[in-house]
Amino acid sequence: MPITVTPINSVDDFTNDVRLRTAALINEHVLPREAELWPQRQGVALSDEIRAAAQAGREDIKQKVKQAGLWAPHLPQEYGGMGLDFLPHAYMNEILAYAVGAASMFGVVAPNSGNQKILAKYGTEEQKQKWLLPLIEGTMESGFSMTEPENAGSDPRSLKTTARREGNEWVINGHKWFTSNGIEADFFIVMCRADDPTGAEGRSGSMVQIIVPTDTPGVDIVRGIGIWGSPTSDHCEVIYDNVRVPVDNALGRVGQGHEAAQDRLGAGRIYHCMNSVGQMWRAFDLMVERALTREVHGGLLKDKQFIQGFIADSYIDLQTSRMMTIKAAEKVDAGDPEARTDISALKIYVPAAYSRVVDRAIQVWGAAGVSNDLPLGRMYLGARTLRLADGPDEVHKILIAKNVVRHYEKGIGSWDFAH
Ligand SMILES: Cc1cc2nc3c(=O)[nH]c(=O)nc-3n(C[C@H](O)[C@H](O)[C@H](O)COP(=O)(O)OP(=O)(O)OC[C@H]3O[C@@H](n4cnc5c(N)ncnc54)[C@H](O)[C@@H]3O)c2cc1C
Repeated sequence: MPITVTPINSVDDFTNDVRLRTAALINEHVLPREAELWPQRQGVALSDEIRAAAQAGREDIKQKVKQAGLWAPHLPQEYGGMGLDFLPHAYMNEILAYAVGAASMFGVVAPNSGNQKILAKYGTEEQKQKWLLPLIEGTMESGFSMTEPENAGSDPRSLKTTARREGNEWVINGHKWFTSNGIEADFFIVMCRADDPTGAEGRSGSMVQIIVPTDTPGVDIVRGIGIWGSPTSDHCEVIYDNVRVPVDNALGRVGQGHEAAQDRLGAGRIYHCMNSVGQMWRAFDLMVERALTREVHGGLLKDKQFIQGFIADSYIDLQTSRMMTIKAAEKVDAGDPEARTDISALKIYVPAAYSRVVDRAIQVWGAAGVSNDLPLGRMYLGARTLRLADGPDEVHKILIAKNVVRHYEKGIGSWDFAH
């Protein structure tokens, strides 16, 4: 079923135009060809021929996207992107996420897209030439290496990987895991604790992100970690053993590492939640579509009250998720500092709502729901993962409560829910 997209009264003409043109491409060129574009997701064994056909199909769509001027919404125009402001980008994401893998054919592929944004913002001219441009051109791949097996990812201050300054080099030692895209990556952006006696921070251990080519001696990609029953994945365990890179590979200044990571994660959560909204939308459409046609016990599923309950509850989950996300996006766009509280709230709410909607859609489809013929199985696992990635629920709950309590302690009145 194609996604239905019509102009939204409350948004500007430009954003509506981007949404409508994105939907036209998705409906005409991506949705009807999903199985051909992503055969491996349907469990098809990849022969050279099938792989080449799928790749050619994806390239064909990329060219159409570029011709339509919809390539790389997250990148500034000077780097070949659309240079979209925050809100239009958020509104575009829900449509991109509706179709399997569509974002990648619009030039947005995590973790490369996050690294591109960080390099564009914090990179020196030399770093941009060396790392950003090849990443954009697709001649290089990258990963973001922050989480460590021995330390809590939800408490970034506990990170132990060190970067010791020795002359004109950083010497990096540490143990990371879940560095996504680690198998393909040509370089990682590694979050380290700096030990830089020459810097303004002295030896106080401020955080710094360092660009590390994956072929540097001492970088050991131990394994692709198996997840959800698969024997392997591209989320890698990596040991950094006395890895030496030039001091110029630091991204931004020492002490700016957390800020750069928050740049990636903070507003990024809104984009991710709009992705979840788009995927929920797809799951919802699939559920209703099936309910309209599947006959059980002498009647269609749509006429059974259990199923009507699924449809109604999913409608509510989708509407609330979307409204929360857009409200937070408007606050971010307006520079409202309270947006942080809303971002945490939606980071908890939306992945959970997404899980519920997909869960119901799977139930309605029965065995087909868990088969590779439909995208629901992958969505289900993705939705569950979102509840712990990007800051687990508990961390965001603590943040919401802290912000609210601080507000009331100041004695400035009740929380203003209208804004
Ligand atoms: C598929 C996938 C891809 C990923 N990709 C990347 C990547 O590319 N790069 C990267 O660096 N990382 C990546 N990660 C790692 C991810 O960011 C971390 O898993 C996440 O930050 C949580 O850290 P942790 O796993 O160490 O859990 P922990 O920090 O150990 O937390 C475990 C649990 O403890 C609970 N908890 C935490 N704090 C509190 C508290 N204060 N009070 C009560 N309970 C609490 C929560 O329930 C939490 O889920 C990825 C993870 C997954 C699953």
